[in-house]
Amino acid sequence: MCGIVGYVGNQPAAPILIEGLTRLEYRGYDSAGIAVMGPNGIRIVKRAGRVRELEAAVPKRFGGKTGIGHTRWATHGGPTDDNAHPHADAASKVCVVHNGIIDNASTLRDLLSTDGVQLRSETDTEVIAHLIARSTAATLEDAVLEALQSIEGTYGLAVIHVDFPGRILVARHGSPLILGVGDKEMFVASDVAALVRHTSQVVHLDDGDLATVTAAGFQTFTTDRRTTHKSPTSIEVSAHEYDADGYAHFMHKEIMEQPAAAERILRGRLDDRFGTAHLGGLNLDAREIRSVKRVKILGCGSAYYVGQLGASLIEEVARIPAEAEASSEFRYRNPVIESDTLYVAVSQSGETADTLLAVQEVKRKGGRVIGLINVVGSAIARECDGGLYLHAGPEVAVASTKALTNMALGFALLALQLGRVRDLSVSDGRRLIAGLRRIPADLEQILATEEELAVVAGSLADAESLFFVGRVRGFPVAREGAQKFKEISYRHAEAYQTGELKHGPLALISERVPTVAIVPSDELTDRNVAAMHEIEARKGPLVAVTHAEADLGSVAAVRVDVPKNEPELDSILLIVALQLLAYHAAVKLGHDVDKPRNLAKSVTVE
Ligand code: GLU
Repeated sequence: MCGIVGYVGNQPAAPILIEGLTRLEYRGYDSAGIAVMGPNGIRIVKRAGRVRELEAAVPKRFGGKTGIGHTRWATHGGPTDDNAHPHADAASKVCVVHNGIIDNASTLRDLLSTDGVQLRSETDTEVIAHLIARSTAATLEDAVLEALQSIEGTYGLAVIHVDFPGRILVARHGSPLILGVGDKEMFVASDVAALVRHTSQVVHLDDGDLATVTAAGFQTFTTDRRTTHKSPTSIEVSAHEYDADGYAHFMHKEIMEQPAAAERILRGRLDDRFGTAHLGGLNLDAREIRSVKRVKILGCGSAYYVGQLGASLIEEVARIPAEAEASSEFRYRNPVIESDTLYVAVSQSGETADTLLAVQEVKRKGGRVIGLINVVGSAIARECDGGLYLHAGPEVAVASTKALTNMALGFALLALQLGRVRDLSVSDGRRLIAGLRRIPADLEQILATEEELAVVAGSLADAESLFFVGRVRGFPVAREGAQKFKEISYRHAEAYQTGELKHGPLALISERVPTVAIVPSDELTDRNVAAMHEIEARKGPLVAVTHAEADLGSVAAVRVDVPKNEPELDSILLIVALQLLAYHAAVKLGHDVDKPRNLAKSVTVE
């Protein structure tokens, strides 16, 4: 969601900015633009639509070695050319790109209009350019600081000014910004994806940081004008991880990467001797773990559903009452925070605004939070007291797959460690470890059945409306399956607890409404088979995502068999079959799988 790039150095800025914006496309956006400062001032090109349309609109001769670019996710004003960033003052002396939301924008717009300023867009961002331009401060740094004093809200901000050539001023408050250090050149970005082609040396700015960036280097300072010292760190991701590598879609590539990603999250974390997991980053000793009375998991979207799966794992394995809640709800309801509850924040990007704010609420009230986060050094990861990184590698497709599977595995590791400090026996611990070790091979086996799954997906794609049902361990699986299906196929897919069907939605079952039933081979198989009979009696087509070991009796369901693991871990594998169903349904329908409509990869606004 929304992206910033900036360049200052000895090369023409425009191609670097465009290439950087292309790398940020995966985050979701509705318009894009660049501003480049040349000898004759600042020139801006911006367009609603895709980066390639912007690229086509940039004139061949578009000189200038300092520039900023943006992909916008509209919050104030529709996705039009005028509302696209960069925004400038009337004289085009100052130019800004901005991620985030200015809360008092309408007041500031009114004040500026009363003062005779002609606003050219409907955005909140434009006011920043005018405020900086109107400052009488002698330096760009002071002018930006002065403008920021009038602003309430969140921002990642990059500013160029004709009176200060060869310089980009950046500021961060609630929206990520990273500097990339090159050889006599510097880069600015909201996401490392835009930098990895140019440098592996990066500086993560913190909230409240500002920086002056020139070709020679950077200088960070605080809002009270104190100079700070930050050293670059090396990033491990390589540029090819952001390439589709011959796959038609990033989502497909990322589904296929799951066995390797699973190996990575498990590596070095399994302890056979004591039948436990080693998660040193939790920063919790055995005594602290014993004092945990409850676990509360916070996440949004798929991270929330996998949190539900995590809660059932923790409750089952560690026997600690656990539940998941959508962070977007939690943070608005003045939650009671208890010192003996362990809070767990789950996010792929580590930037999800609702989860970040939920974490801040917990911490403000004295609670302890650990994170299950994929992006190292991200805002939520830094806010947490400890946690474990998911090691899924960069995830580009909007619909999460490998990060989600690693979240589920992360919960299994957490449940194992919590359980072994409490009542889980060493033999059960070892049984789960053996199960976890089989996961990468089990994943390979599921991926090998892709062709059959594509056929099943093809039949589901034709339905306007579907149910996904599961019971107990299977219910989060059904929820995530329905979520994935609806977000990329745009079909109405509703998840229900299998046992609740007859309390309402059974009325909707017909030959036109298929049901995907999650039916693991476990102590509840018979109950699930009974429910499938009820669906069959109403002529509802059935797909059973199940195990070869499960006896479905006379039910005429299309079977999707996944490998059987330990009962506690089966859900992790069942979900992967549903990813492939959703993917192939969306491909059949001809949708832009990696960039589903109206959705963004990291939801950095509230
Ligand atoms: N609030 C700004 C706008 O609507 C910035 C949105 C973004 O983060 O892309 O233009």
